[in-house]
Parts: sequence; structure tokens; C-alpha cells
Amino acid sequence: MCVWYNTETAYLLLCFVMTQSHDKLFKRRREDFWCEQCGAQVAGDGYTNHCPQCLWSKHVDVRPGDRAAECGGLMEPVALVKERLTHRCVRCGYEKNNKTAADDDFDALLRLANRIADGR
Ligand SMILES: [Zn+2]
Ligand SMILES: [Zn+2]
Repeated sequence: MCVWYNTETAYLLLCFVMTQSHDKLFKRRREDFWCEQCGAQVAGDGYTNHCPQCLWSKHVDVRPGDRAAECGGLMEPVALVKERLTHRCVRCGYEKNNKTAADDDFDALLRLANRIADGR
């Protein structure tokens, strides 16, 4: 315990530590994220907008990459046409077309295609 710190120093130190960890958290959220649908950890590259394991996305972009939407609802994959994956926000119904990514789980893509073909 640093008993020799006076109150002001301790306060500044605490502020510094909190700012540092806040920066780390913020950066981590931009690059990597935990999928809220299946719990997989997704290593983001700045362009990743859906989980490669379950293909769900999150309503965070207005224009691709700007992270401006404040909705934050989970987006369900509802259509798959060739390389085009359509997500629909479960909270506000907003639909968005995305491209499938090279690291998307092939089985998940197949399951989605089958589910859509079955009319869910
Ligand atoms: Zn997922
Ligand atoms: Zn939404």
C-alpha cells in the first residue's frame, strides 16, 4: 500500500489508471468483440461486421465502418445470395447487405442457406 501518497497524488494516479484502462477497453471493442449471439470471440480487422461462427451481426454502422448507429440491436442473418449476406436488426428491423468473409464458418453458411430454403 502506498501510504506516503497524499490525497491529490493518489487521485491523479487513479485518474491515470482509469484513463489507461478506458483507452484499452475502447480499442479492444473496435478491434475484437465477443459475439453476443453465440459467445465466440471475433478478431476484428476494422471491417468485420458479423460473427464468423454464427453469422449474426450487430446494428452499429450507418455507413460501413462509421459505427454511428446507436441502436445496438443484434442483427439476424436472413438471406444469403451468393456472397451477399443480408442482416436484419431484431430491435428496429433495419436491413443491411454485407459480404460474406473468407473466415466465415462454412457449416454455418450451409446451415443458414438450408434454414432459408426451408422457410425457417
Ligand atoms: Zn456468433
Ligand atoms: Zn437496429
